[in-house]
Amino acid sequence: MPPTLLITGASRGIGRATALLAGSRGWSIGVNYLSNGSLAAETVSAIQSSGGRAVALQGDMAVEADVQRVFDAMESAFGPLDGVVVNAGVTAPITTLAEMSVERLKKVFDTNVLGAYLCAREAARRLPSDSPDAGDKSIVFVSSAAARLGSPNEFVDYAGSKGAVDTLTVGLSKELGPKKVRVNGVRPGIIRTDIHAASGDAGRVERLGGAAPLGRAGEAEEVAEAIVWLASPAASYVTGSIIDVAGGR
Ligand code: NAD
Repeated sequence: MPPTLLITGASRGIGRATALLAGSRGWSIGVNYLSNGSLAAETVSAIQSSGGRAVALQGDMAVEADVQRVFDAMESAFGPLDGVVVNAGVTAPITTLAEMSVERLKKVFDTNVLGAYLCAREAARRLPSDSPDAGDKSIVFVSSAAARLGSPNEFVDYAGSKGAVDTLTVGLSKELGPKKVRVNGVRPGIIRTDIHAASGDAGRVERLGGAAPLGRAGEAEEVAEAIVWLASPAASYVTGSIIDVAGGR
């Protein structure tokens, strides 16, 4: 059987690119989405057209019952889970901490931190095995270069939420390593996706991308390569690692 991979927030952007790449390599993909069912359906049919298997799974990954339902539906569709990509995330308009509302802080931390922990907890309940013959199982978190940079005067909340994801990656890799589950992360830099619309600064992607050592913003497909590698048995001795895919930023 081909490996099975659940990807959260996979109807567009980095999640979609990851779903398409893993699907084209024969993985069976769970395409989780929050609200845009037609985009998720397009992603599923693109995977099926490339010969892969996929199912669209609606659910809010910051809601405990939704997370459990989505994991259950994934296993009903394809059997035991081999991997999870914790990708769903949000950002917010550029501003200083002094100006941030509690509602905004809750939205960012609910999605990026609580959501990541709920998905990781569900994976931690389903992936571990005591069998010496267990196949390769893994969790990949999509963090951000912001976790290293701090994002001052832009979104220190978002940066902090991704710092929490990095810490979870390290801790969980040690917790689950003995149970044959690898846990890794990627830190994208400035990647051309729709997430940047929330910043309110239309020129930010090209300006910051252009200032990176590689002189440009990245594409979702370039991040997907690193995620799929970490999720695959090709990275069978890699755990607790967080790879920057940030053009040197
Ligand atoms: P995107 O906005 O295109 O994708 C994010 C997806 O997550 C969307 O489909 C959204 O609907 C989904 N989502 C949000 N909240 C959700 C929830 N509660 N439940 C389920 N799905 C939810 O943006 P992207 O750039 O593809 O972002 C993917 C990940 O990459 C995010 O975690 C983001 O923080 C991270 N990231 C992106 C960049 C970048 O420059 N694009 C840089 C660093 C990190």
